[in-house]
Amino acid sequence: MTANLLDFDLDGLAAFCERLGEKRFRATQLFRWIHQKGAADFDEMSDLAKSLREKLKTSAEVTAIPLLAQHISSDGTIKWLFDVGGGNAIETVFIPDDDRGTLCISSQAGCAVACRFCSTGHQGFSRNLTVAEIISQLWFAEHFLRKHLGQSDRVISNVVMMGMGEPLQNYAALVPALRVMLDDHAYGLSRRRVTVSTSGVVPMIDRLGRDCPVALAVSLHASNDALRDELVPLNRKYPLADLLQACKRYLEVAPRDFVTFEYCMLNGVNDTIAHADELVELVRSYGAHKAWCKFNLIPFNPFPASGLTRSSVAAVASFAKILSDSGIVTTIRKTRGDDIDAACGQLAGDIKDRTNVRTRLSKHRLITINQDKRPTRVGKEDTVNDC
Ligand code: SAH
Ligand code: SF4
Repeated sequence: MTANLLDFDLDGLAAFCERLGEKRFRATQLFRWIHQKGAADFDEMSDLAKSLREKLKTSAEVTAIPLLAQHISSDGTIKWLFDVGGGNAIETVFIPDDDRGTLCISSQAGCAVACRFCSTGHQGFSRNLTVAEIISQLWFAEHFLRKHLGQSDRVISNVVMMGMGEPLQNYAALVPALRVMLDDHAYGLSRRRVTVSTSGVVPMIDRLGRDCPVALAVSLHASNDALRDELVPLNRKYPLADLLQACKRYLEVAPRDFVTFEYCMLNGVNDTIAHADELVELVRSYGAHKAWCKFNLIPFNPFPASGLTRSSVAAVASFAKILSDSGIVTTIRKTRGDDIDAACGQLAGDIKDRTNVRTRLSKHRLITINQDKRPTRVGKEDTVNDC
């Protein structure tokens, strides 16, 4: 069986090379070819000995997941739909900005957490992605964008694990994938610019802190347990007290000195003044002396099956003001790519009936980008690492 080299972090690749009777520095060369230069053909790797290239041709491959469709939003956001087999598709979103390029990556096909306001959650869980399937998304996007923007240096500066799936429920693949993102011989992203977003898998927050601390975003969405139990069913297992204590522990090892709380604004459900006041109290009870968290308010992106609606602009503004006035840094997420269903929680990716999906997709504006059609740059957003 041939090994897909996108499945390995550098240590894994070194072990693979050793099995072929090769030294570790060969793995570093190979790793650079794959991730820094985007090479998939061993014959391109000119500084590798011919004998090694021949061995690789029979035992290895560099195979990204097949692309099904590409959509470009009028705001420059690009969404790619990839086929991960068995009738499942996953989505990856690139969000260009003045000072950064953010890639929003999926970690699972579907999701088992079943949050009420999330279309991935409504779709149910299909399976975990492999390391290769997670890294494929970055490998493809980075080299595609470089080629089409005619750029030789890095295009993607930030990665957020905010696509489909709960990354901390696919921990075994997540950590090697994060290591590839951070490795200087691969993408060399700073830990501060790689964000794992979680609905609150408490034991895995602790493990991430030990194994591979990167920036942490926690999907809070409620100011008390009764409400959070309804919106994020995982709260019944890991209630707010356990979750907030895990966040505080994480900060002892985190590359940033704050946790970002995501809060999806749902009309009449979690968006009243009373909720905002309760949230301020909650956060203060875990540390009033120092700003240890930031809030990112996400206007709900509606989808029919949810039965929920988006909070009004005025309700979001009043909510944000209460948090800000109490000293909590609060941003309101600008919705990006909603003309192509690339906004948070709209990533459904179900292709059980491919004919239907292809028809559905063809109704979207489908543009192939080329050198003349660069993604439009939009104004600077004052949020960090957002999808
Ligand atoms: N499973 C992880 C990461 C993926 S979801 C998590 O829940 O954190 C990424 C973000 O999108 C989360 O904050 C999630 O709550 C938010 N989200 C999901 N559905 C949404 C919707 N319909 N509208 C707005 N935000 C949504
Ligand atoms: Fe899963 Fe995150 Fe969606 Fe909840 S919000 S169902 S954890 S992807």
